[in-house]
Amino acid sequence: MYFPDFWVGMNKNQRGGKSMPREIVLRNAQVIDGVSDQPRKNISIVMKDDRIASVTEGDGPAGQGAEIVDCSGKTVMAGLIDTHVHSTFIDRNDLTLFLATGVTTARDVGGRLDKVLRLRGQVNSGEVVGPRLFVCGPLLDGEENSFKPGPMTEMLDNIPNPEAAPGKIRQLLSSGVDGVKLYFTMKPDTAKAVIRAVDKRVPITGHLGYTTAMEAISFGIDGLEHIWISPYQDICSLEMRLGPGASMSNRSFWTHTLKGWEEMDLQAPRAQAFFGAMVEKQVKMGTTLDLLWTAYAGLEGALADPDRAYIPPHCLARQAAQNPELKAGQEWDIHPGYWAPGEGRKALDKQLEAVRLLHEKGGVVVGGTDCGGLNYPPPGFALLREVEMLSQAMGPMAALKAVTVSAARALRKDNDLGRVAPGYYADLLVLNNDPSKDVRELRSLSRVYRGGVVYDPKELLAARPVRDMTLIPA
Ligand SMILES: [Zn+2]
Repeated sequence: MYFPDFWVGMNKNQRGGKSMPREIVLRNAQVIDGVSDQPRKNISIVMKDDRIASVTEGDGPAGQGAEIVDCSGKTVMAGLIDTHVHSTFIDRNDLTLFLATGVTTARDVGGRLDKVLRLRGQVNSGEVVGPRLFVCGPLLDGEENSFKPGPMTEMLDNIPNPEAAPGKIRQLLSSGVDGVKLYFTMKPDTAKAVIRAVDKRVPITGHLGYTTAMEAISFGIDGLEHIWISPYQDICSLEMRLGPGASMSNRSFWTHTLKGWEEMDLQAPRAQAFFGAMVEKQVKMGTTLDLLWTAYAGLEGALADPDRAYIPPHCLARQAAQNPELKAGQEWDIHPGYWAPGEGRKALDKQLEAVRLLHEKGGVVVGGTDCGGLNYPPPGFALLREVEMLSQAMGPMAALKAVTVSAARALRKDNDLGRVAPGYYADLLVLNNDPSKDVRELRSLSRVYRGGVVYDPKELLAARPVRDMTLIPA
């Protein structure tokens, strides 16, 4: 057990012995319920044990011994969901960063199977304090590995041909994964065989490369990861498509796709066909716009960003090991080194435009970050950045839906998570200010409930050792 103090906090809320449910009533709250277009005023929320029992206007019912919390002036909403994390590279103690920033659920979309299953068990049983964790198991490459030998390769597994798909999928599903993740080098015939083998039992998402998004959609994929990469081949100009053997381990891959995005015509028939297919099949588009956030912040802005102090030590160690090859400068801790921080602004503008178009046409936009897989922004804080950029693209309320109710759809947990409604998990944020007009107010978080258990974000952050930024070499 990691933070005994918080468990003492939890026990305070357990009342009346074993037979009586633990009951907490939030009163006088403004509520963003995940469905309504505007916040609702003067709402009472009753939590019983780990679920929401009722959501009513006015004072609402309260059982004997219930804890009443006055939320006058505050806004309550569902806990945030990050649909794209790599917990393998996040130290167990640092899983509290998610809760401290209001992220009560995370989906691991790639890690060594035994490790992510163990961690899921520890977090979901309460042995380790962190968000609800859903796992996809390994990144499923095709014949070749997407990474050169190094710290990233432990996340990979291979399905080299269609014949190998049923056996591997049987193994993954019987081990209890919550989803399946297709990776960059998987070819179309194998992707098709995998999707058939899964047969809709769990959601399948993909960070695609050798298989195009349009192919994967026609095979019945449920989601795509990284608006930058997965649909790139489908929507860039014909001249800017990647050739055979393209590798994410080459700097040219990144500079080329940045240029491809800058020149992209989102009104062209190919792009429109992609948007049309995404809307028709309701494929979930995981965004990970935060990968390029440094393009807006610039080098100076990123280096001065206080969130930088929360990069997990495990991530830092991995990045340090990759430094000789990536040759990053003073920004080595925050930047993958494949392009310069501050570069890519026009490409990022275009990606935001693609998000806006997809949303306007009725597509499903889902917030995810790749935290852990990349150092920066750090866990939790990364989703706050993501929401800021989603808000620029689609407005604040749609951005909040992308990280709550729509993200829950991507996990197929939309009857349990992402809404403030009876029967849903009591995963709730209490915010001092209203994020429905300005999503940066997600940082005014005053309490987090995960399954009805309360956490103080400030205490969670204070309990975690912060990097001494003065020791970071320039
Ligand atoms: Zn990833």
